[in-house]
Amino acid sequence: MMDNSFKYLIIGGGMTASAAICSLREADKDSAIGLITAESHQPYDRPPLSKGLWKDSTVEEIKRNIDYSNVDIFLNRFAQKIDTNRKVVTDSEGRTYRYEKLLLATGGSPRQLPFGNGHIIYYRTLSDYERLRQLAAKHDKFVVIGGGFIGAEVAAALAINGKRVTMVFPDKGICARLFPAGLSQYITDTYREKGVEVLTDEEVIRLSGNDTDLKVVTMSGREIRANGVVAGIGIEVNTELAESAGLSVDNGIVVDKNLRTSNKDIYAAGDVAVFYDPFLEKYRRVEHEDNALTMGGVAGTAMAGDEETEYNHSPMFYSDMFDMGYEAVGELNSDLEMVENWQEKYKKGIVYYLKEGKVRGVLLWNVWDQVSNARNLIAENATFTPQMLKDQIPFD
Ligand code: NAP
Repeated sequence: MMDNSFKYLIIGGGMTASAAICSLREADKDSAIGLITAESHQPYDRPPLSKGLWKDSTVEEIKRNIDYSNVDIFLNRFAQKIDTNRKVVTDSEGRTYRYEKLLLATGGSPRQLPFGNGHIIYYRTLSDYERLRQLAAKHDKFVVIGGGFIGAEVAAALAINGKRVTMVFPDKGICARLFPAGLSQYITDTYREKGVEVLTDEEVIRLSGNDTDLKVVTMSGREIRANGVVAGIGIEVNTELAESAGLSVDNGIVVDKNLRTSNKDIYAAGDVAVFYDPFLEKYRRVEHEDNALTMGGVAGTAMAGDEETEYNHSPMFYSDMFDMGYEAVGELNSDLEMVENWQEKYKKGIVYYLKEGKVRGVLLWNVWDQVSNARNLIAENATFTPQMLKDQIPFD
């Protein structure tokens, strides 16, 4: 039996989907839109989960402000199969949804550890925030596994709220994969000054106990008692649906410049999509807010029939860790050649990431309003010597 029929059907209920709904609604005021999501909440802003909600934002404020007229949202549903010939999606309970145009905004799921049995909060959704918030309201000791975006932001958020936090991760310092070693060390030292215990070059190998009395065991034999354990150890992209539908998948769902997959009626956007970045001249996948919102918006416009629309945006990203903050564009990878230009060492400055003399990424460390200059520098595709770079972007 055919339950539902939509001109536009979206799978995934994150920021990408919400941006697509906005641009679809702008281009086509009336046609039916369907949204299938495994989430139990309507679309919301994800960045505040590890930032603003631990300061002064409220859950009400993070809900995405969207016109939902003639949009059917199916929460707690899991899309399982796409029949590309009949243009029908089937969910895990056998319900079917017919589409004319389909958007896959399925994002990623947190990578998990082979132990922990429900005790580890793999921090990704509003429900995860609510679970951690409730724990933090009653308890004091937390272990945070991972030293990337989630680990760094959640550890700072908990510490700001007076919690005793131990971070555990295998790298040499916080965000060591992104930043020059000296900066990563400075961030790690700052966390320690703020009272966070940071265990680098270390791994959690076991978790025992129950409920809010947990024992975390590390590779070197440390035993840490905790009331709650949070992990941010990366995501795995949700490509199974696309793969089973025979779409082209290569570390994500491959899309063309109009965000079409290898099937002409199916689009993909956000964390899950592999797109050609004309500035970096390569295919890549980006797991940040600006990419999700901008790409989702373009996908909606394209689905509504605008053949001209293209995704040629160089997405930025940002983070806050205590009173340190940054914006960045392009590829931030500490394996690239890095040229550092500090106005005040590790307090305010710019790091340029170079490959064969060309700028591939720019970190604006406590430097604001320079994102478009950073984008232009990457787009210029010129060859620079370290000396030439010093004057390329001003500090203010
Ligand atoms: P992430 O930034 O990729 O960091 C993963 C971290 O976990 C790395 O430090 C990694 O170390 C470490 N790790 C891997 N295996 C581990 C293990 N067994 N034990 C301990 N640590 C381990 O991923 P994330 O922090 O989980 O964030 C998830 C996604 O959300 C990312 O896509 C991120 O871009 C996005 N996000 C973005 C923002 C932002 O833009 N501000 C904020 C939050 C989340 P190695 O490097 O050594 O593997």
